[in-house]
Amino acid sequence: MTKLLHLIGAALLLFIAPALKAAAPPAFVIAGETIAPGTRTDLRIPVPEGSDPATFIPVSVIHGAKPGRVLAVVAGVHGFEFASIIAAERLAERIDPTRLAGTLVLVRVANINGFEGRSPNVNPVDRKNLNRVFPGDPQGTQTQRIADLIAREVVARSDFLMDVHSGDGAEFLDAFIGVYGGPLATDFPLALKVAQGFGFPNIVRYAMETQAQIDSGRSLNRQGVAMGKPTILIEIGQNGSREESHVAAIVAGVENALAILGMSDATPAAPAAPARLFDGTTSVAAHHAGIYHPADPRPRPLAKGELIGVIRDYTGKEVERLISPVDGYALYGITGPPVEPGDGVVTIALPVETF
Ligand SMILES: [Zn+2]
Repeated sequence: MTKLLHLIGAALLLFIAPALKAAAPPAFVIAGETIAPGTRTDLRIPVPEGSDPATFIPVSVIHGAKPGRVLAVVAGVHGFEFASIIAAERLAERIDPTRLAGTLVLVRVANINGFEGRSPNVNPVDRKNLNRVFPGDPQGTQTQRIADLIAREVVARSDFLMDVHSGDGAEFLDAFIGVYGGPLATDFPLALKVAQGFGFPNIVRYAMETQAQIDSGRSLNRQGVAMGKPTILIEIGQNGSREESHVAAIVAGVENALAILGMSDATPAAPAAPARLFDGTTSVAAHHAGIYHPADPRPRPLAKGELIGVIRDYTGKEVERLISPVDGYALYGITGPPVEPGDGVVTIALPVETF
C-alpha cells in the first residue's frame, strides 16, 4: 500500500512539476537584451549611423513574474507631444514587475531629436514625420531607421499596441481614443473594451477596409494593424502642454488596460460617462500658404456649410475660405497662424449612435 502511495505521489509530481515550472515566464528578449521575469530593465535601442547621425530609442521593459500578454505603449512619436512622454516616465516607476502578469514595453521617447529639438511634427534631423514612414527602412534616413527598429523590436513583440499622442504645436484637440476596426484590423472588440476603459470623452473607430488605407503614409498605429495587433491611438493635450490632468489620464487608462488585459489583479474600472462615438473622420485641407484665421479654434460641433476659417496672404488679402463639408465634430485642427497647402486645418469626426 505504502509503495503504491509512493508511486501515485511520484506520478502526481511528474504532472505537477511541469505545471509549476510553467508558472514563471521565460526571459523577455528585446534588442539583444535578456530580461528576467519579475524585473524592470531600462535600455536604449541603438539606431546606427546611416546617411545621417546615429541616435537611440529609450525603452523600459517591465517583465512580469507571471505569464501574460505583452502590451507595448509608445510615447513621443511626435517629440512636442509631451503628456505621453511624462506618462511613460511615470508608468515605468509605478508598475511593479513582481505583481505583473505579462510584459509592459514602454517606449519613453520614440523621437529623441524631435523631443530635444522641441520640434512639432517632424524629426529635425531629416525633416520626416515618424508617423508617416512605417514600416521604416534600415538603410533610410534617421526617422526611417527609428521606424524600422520600433516595428521589429517593439510592435512585432507585442500582443496589443498603444500609440500615445497629443495635439501637436499650434494644434487644438479634444481628448479621444482611436480604435482600429474593419476587416483588416485584429480583435476590435478587445481594442474597444480597452479604449472605453480610458474614460475619454470621445472614441473614434477607424475602419481598415483596404490595404491602401494601411499603407499610404503608414503611421505607427497602422503598423500595429499591419502586424495583426489590436491597436488603439491615445490622444490628449495640445500645443506643447504638459498638464497634470492629461498625464494622469494616460497613466490611469494604461493601468486600467492592464486590468482589462488580465495583466494586473486590479478590478477594471468602469468609465464614468459614456463617450461620444464617431465612425471615422473627414479632414479639410488648405490649398494656400499664408496666415490662417480660424473661426473658432476649439473642439466643437460643426454643421455642413459652416465657416471653419479663412486664409489671408501676406498682403492681408483673403485667398481661401474653408467650409465644413459635413455635419460632425471638430475633434482636432490647427490654430495657426501659419498654414501651408496640404495642411489639414480641421479633422471632423463623424458621429454614430453605436459601432
Ligand atoms: Zn502626434
